[in-house]
Amino acid sequence: MAKNGSKSKNTAKPKSGAAAQTQAKILAQALPYMQRYGGTTVVVKYGGHAMGDEALAESFAKDIVLLKQAGVNPVVVHGGGPQIGRLLDELNIKSRFEDGLRVTDKETLDVVEMVLSGAINKSIVGAINAQGGQAVGISGKDANLMIARKTERRVTDPVSNIEKIIDLGYVGEPETVNTHIVDVIQKSDLIPVVAPIGASTEGETLNINADTFAGALAAALKAKRLLMLTDVDGVLDAKDKLIEQMAGTEARALIANGVVSGGMIPKVETCIDAVESGVEGVVIINGKVPHAVLLELFTEHGAGTLIGWPSGAPKPPQRL
Ligand code: ADP
Ligand code: MG
Repeated sequence: MAKNGSKSKNTAKPKSGAAAQTQAKILAQALPYMQRYGGTTVVVKYGGHAMGDEALAESFAKDIVLLKQAGVNPVVVHGGGPQIGRLLDELNIKSRFEDGLRVTDKETLDVVEMVLSGAINKSIVGAINAQGGQAVGISGKDANLMIARKTERRVTDPVSNIEKIIDLGYVGEPETVNTHIVDVIQKSDLIPVVAPIGASTEGETLNINADTFAGALAAALKAKRLLMLTDVDGVLDAKDKLIEQMAGTEARALIANGVVSGGMIPKVETCIDAVESGVEGVVIINGKVPHAVLLELFTEHGAGTLIGWPSGAPKPPQRL
């Protein structure tokens, strides 16, 4: 772009003119994508592991502001696993995971809420605002956005075949989503940034896996896209090869046979649920790639793993 808005056609060197031409061409290529997504809601789950690096945080924030500028309504839901883990360590509070979910006692819950609703939420809000956006940070507690119930995990011992219930403590799963506050925010020039904390009908605070939260919110908002940014290229098969696309049934099988494990379990489960709930497209992508969001939405360069297509559809939809 010419400095001070002056026309540069007579002063530009041929090389920079060509570069500018290329740039203009690339911008023009984004038009059909902008038209496709203009006015729609795109929920972006920003993974705890994908947001460690400052330059990446800046490129993520730019993408979100650009989306908003292009008429798309981005809704950011963030995690914070590594940051919570660090503070728990510093405070000498022991913590463990079951099936990718953090077992959360009262002491841990206080740290979880402090880190998610406080430090991380406000740092993302700050990063977006530094790029000229107007982000508003909330959690699932605000205006009863996310009413949750305690999660019950049952596991069957493969040897004895006895089923037991794992007590995860203050871990919740979405029960009712009241989208009002997000609707109000996203329909203006503001960008909602949501921490995955909810409350039960009794007013108890519950820690909700950020993937699960993002999926429930995307379904309730009837989002056009749910992008799950994480720290790997997508779902890997038993030979560590990237799976570009798979149906819900295949994804379930990968969880059952243990190829998908740990934090990838709630992620894949969320993708399956979101597609079944009517979200048009759900993709797991590597948030460590600069401008991962723009690459996925505004270019042909679809990366990562696309999960699910409508049941009964004759073939997978074209890569969107
Ligand atoms: P996030 O912060 O993005 O939610 P998680 O650590 O919760 O990240 O989940 C992503 C992790 O899941 C990966 O870093 C990887 O270690 C793990 N994982 C387990 N099974 C798979 C798989 N089949 N393909 C890819 N990643 C997997
Ligand atoms: Mg996770």
